[in-house]
Amino acid sequence: MKAQSLPLKNIQLNSNFWSPRLKLIHDVVIPCQWEAMNDRLEDAAKSGAVQNFKIAAGREQGEFYGCPFQDSDLAKWLEAVSYCLSAKPDSKLEQLADEVIDLIADAQAENGYLVTRYIIKDQDQRWTNLRDEHELYVIGHQIEAAVAYLESTGKDKFLKIVQRAADHVTAVFGRQPGQLRGYPGHEEIELALVKLFRVTREKRYLELSQYFIDERGREPNYFIKEAIRRGESGKAKWGSGLPDYYQAHLPVREQTTAEGHAVRAMYLFSGMADLAYETGDQSLIHACYQLWRNVVQRRMYITGGVGSTHHGEAFTFDYDLPNETAYAETCAAIGLIFFAHRMLQLDIDHQFADVMERALYNGVLSGISLDGKHYFYVNPLAAFPRDKYSNAARRQPWYGCACCPPNLARLLSSLGKYCYSQQEDTLYLHLYAGGSVQFIINGSKITLEQRTEYPWQEKVNLRINTKGRVKFTLALRIPGWCRQSNIKVNQTEIAISKFLNKGYVYISREWSQGDNVELFFAMPVEKIEAHPSVRMNAGRVALQRGPVVYCIEQVDNGADLNDIILSAKAEFKVKWNPDLLGGVPVIFGTGWRRDRSRWENQLYRFDSSSHKKITVRAIPYALWANRDQGEMLVWLRDERNISGN
Ligand code: ZN
Repeated sequence: MKAQSLPLKNIQLNSNFWSPRLKLIHDVVIPCQWEAMNDRLEDAAKSGAVQNFKIAAGREQGEFYGCPFQDSDLAKWLEAVSYCLSAKPDSKLEQLADEVIDLIADAQAENGYLVTRYIIKDQDQRWTNLRDEHELYVIGHQIEAAVAYLESTGKDKFLKIVQRAADHVTAVFGRQPGQLRGYPGHEEIELALVKLFRVTREKRYLELSQYFIDERGREPNYFIKEAIRRGESGKAKWGSGLPDYYQAHLPVREQTTAEGHAVRAMYLFSGMADLAYETGDQSLIHACYQLWRNVVQRRMYITGGVGSTHHGEAFTFDYDLPNETAYAETCAAIGLIFFAHRMLQLDIDHQFADVMERALYNGVLSGISLDGKHYFYVNPLAAFPRDKYSNAARRQPWYGCACCPPNLARLLSSLGKYCYSQQEDTLYLHLYAGGSVQFIINGSKITLEQRTEYPWQEKVNLRINTKGRVKFTLALRIPGWCRQSNIKVNQTEIAISKFLNKGYVYISREWSQGDNVELFFAMPVEKIEAHPSVRMNAGRVALQRGPVVYCIEQVDNGADLNDIILSAKAEFKVKWNPDLLGGVPVIFGTGWRRDRSRWENQLYRFDSSSHKKITVRAIPYALWANRDQGEMLVWLRDERNISGN
């Protein structure tokens, strides 16, 4: 048996860090997004997502509105609703979801087709532009939502709808005569089909996923062929128009670098890892590792953001990680968590959980405001808001292309799945979060309670609740960011190095009621440097404490943040501030600020600036832009002691 996540219903998250955030998802994010998709949210971009379904279902008259993938917002919202229902029953919300599912059923075409853009109009153009039109992507999201809804409510109406859609796709695509030999321009259905296979055990869904993954990037290139069929030259409407934008430049097993649109890439790699997990295909696993290494060793921001450039929301080249112009779409960091989580089930190795955690606490949580009503699509690591660039430093209530907000909702509401997994008689703890998990080992029901103020504090306390004595293994991740840890089992310290394998400490024993494990992960403030080839960060460091990357903001430090230099031997103090940003540890460090005087009417002068001593104040990056708008900086200039050999 391989490692697998536990059902969401078995996991409760309950901590001062997560409880308010999950409550926000349920009480604010889900209702607000519903309003947004019904176009009832003030000052927000029009969505049309619900209306499109009403028109497709014949309940209303009108035109299709929005991007071809508009339906996916509603699907992701339904998926998030499902996860919320797993955590806590809510009959009103469930009834609303049932009504939406009825609406989707009414909108579905006779043959199972399920994309409102081509149900409302241009029916004869279905499947004629896989490259740009996102039809398979939309159906993928419907599948994911339906699987989640089945798992949380036990109701299968939605599942039957998406099975009809998937069966239609199975009939249309493949290598048989009369079938289209294409694959999606935006990957997503690959991983969704694996989920559908897992709940139905119908092999045809796994085979369809395999077909899409195997077919991708073969010559002659399908996107170019279909463009020519449409009478176009093969140039794309979006993106660079080159096959690598869609990860279709090579067969996936020959791809060694992450190319093109970052969210697409992350979803593809996730689908590849899913397929490899089910089939054991070694060549695919090998490709996943290659791509993984390229992303996390050369193309990932310290925040877990990926996709360096606005141009095509895409990867660029190794070590190209600009800060102010970073794209780092929220969805891409979420996609990296999907990929990391799947790799982790294939191979229990802390490097995957470390990246998952890095993205979660930094580049993902930065995507949502503390009030749960505003979102970042783009997550730069430096902001200098002036005039027309000011919007980049302010979260928006909704987006015309609103992929990120519901993606955040579905990830955070299913976070429990990422915290634990089980493999026979071993329970793995990947992410530390207060709450509890129930699992069964050799017929014995066990509850593990976890008490912690992680990521703000250094201690995690575990308590076993079980009847009688049960032999099993607890596998506890030692975070990669941690240089000093210790573990006590029933007050007795254990020798971590003796039980360590790929960053997990395996504690095998007969456990009984009330057994207690205390973990301590030292969280000093660390100065982090980037690889010398990341030219933008030359002479700069980032501050990190535990898994949390910090930044400095204008509201705390004044304007012109690039005038600030951290002292070579900076002394840091961490002070808990319960009144700031929902309660955060604030870092105070010693530094210098360049004097700006005597610069009238000059752009350049003889080097003569002086500096004065200051205290630098840093807050968690994910929480920036929740107060007055202003500058922000992650990578700070550093007055290093240069030492020779
Ligand atoms: Zn997005």
